[in-house]
Amino acid sequence: MTNITSSQTLNKLEEWAREESRSSSLLDFYISLLRIQADVEERITIPKPELSEKTATNRMAKRKPLLKFDDLAVNWQMIEDTFNRVAAVFAGYPDLFGPVPEVLFKEKPRQKLTKTMVRSWLESKSLPSTIAGADISPYLLDSLIHQSLKPFLIRHSQVLTRLVNKETWRRSSCFVCGGRSDIGYLEKKVGARWLMCSRCDTEWHFQRLKCSNCDNQDSKLLSSFSDDEVIYRLYVCDKCHTYLKVVDLRNAKTEIFLPLERLLTLDMDRQGQEKGYQPGYIRIEDVDKTQPE
Ligand SMILES: [Zn+2]
Ligand SMILES: [Zn+2]
Repeated sequence: MTNITSSQTLNKLEEWAREESRSSSLLDFYISLLRIQADVEERITIPKPELSEKTATNRMAKRKPLLKFDDLAVNWQMIEDTFNRVAAVFAGYPDLFGPVPEVLFKEKPRQKLTKTMVRSWLESKSLPSTIAGADISPYLLDSLIHQSLKPFLIRHSQVLTRLVNKETWRRSSCFVCGGRSDIGYLEKKVGARWLMCSRCDTEWHFQRLKCSNCDNQDSKLLSSFSDDEVIYRLYVCDKCHTYLKVVDLRNAKTEIFLPLERLLTLDMDRQGQEKGYQPGYIRIEDVDKTQPE
């Protein structure tokens, strides 16, 4: 299921919306966002890895992600432009995400996203509560950086995953960028569980009876809920109170396209949150997870 591009996801989402005659502001939002991501992804030349296979393998052996901030092979102006475009999309949907500070999309060129913010985000450290002099919720800033960096990280993943044997990785964080998973699947043959990184779409194998957020293995504190056809499962952990969405490919009747499923299963997010769990992939230090925006 690897190497799915944002433009493929966009085409599938538009096709699905047409066939199902669906329309909603959330769907419009994701289509607008994917248009930007697909455009950016297509314009980025795949960065040549600075890492040798040996260094990459050593990092994995030390349980460190392959991509460090200093390894990012990116055009920073392009990242800033993408950030401004993404912020303008979010600003169009205040009902969904709350207001976006006007300084982000109304004021003329002024650096808004800084390298320091990107570093903190990549290393899952706390984010500032102001940007370009305006107050901003760390959750909104996290989402804006996440969606802006995504095409760049997907491109890095395509190169970096070739350097290593990913079968050696069984950690809860992504071996490419250190991000967390927001969706996974149980593969067809034996139902092994694979996670997909919320940031760069890299996939890796992970234990089924273990929390993908806090590594809890106490079966009394782990459970899952599924739909009637047992295609969609929501894994929850009562230790860290997070959930993970998983598609069981053994029971799926049609071809499953995971980056699309991430968007088509928002109802599962609602159910998880109604049951009192939070998405496990959002990691902002010093922010109380039980009090999102
Ligand atoms: Zn990743
Ligand atoms: Zn947990």
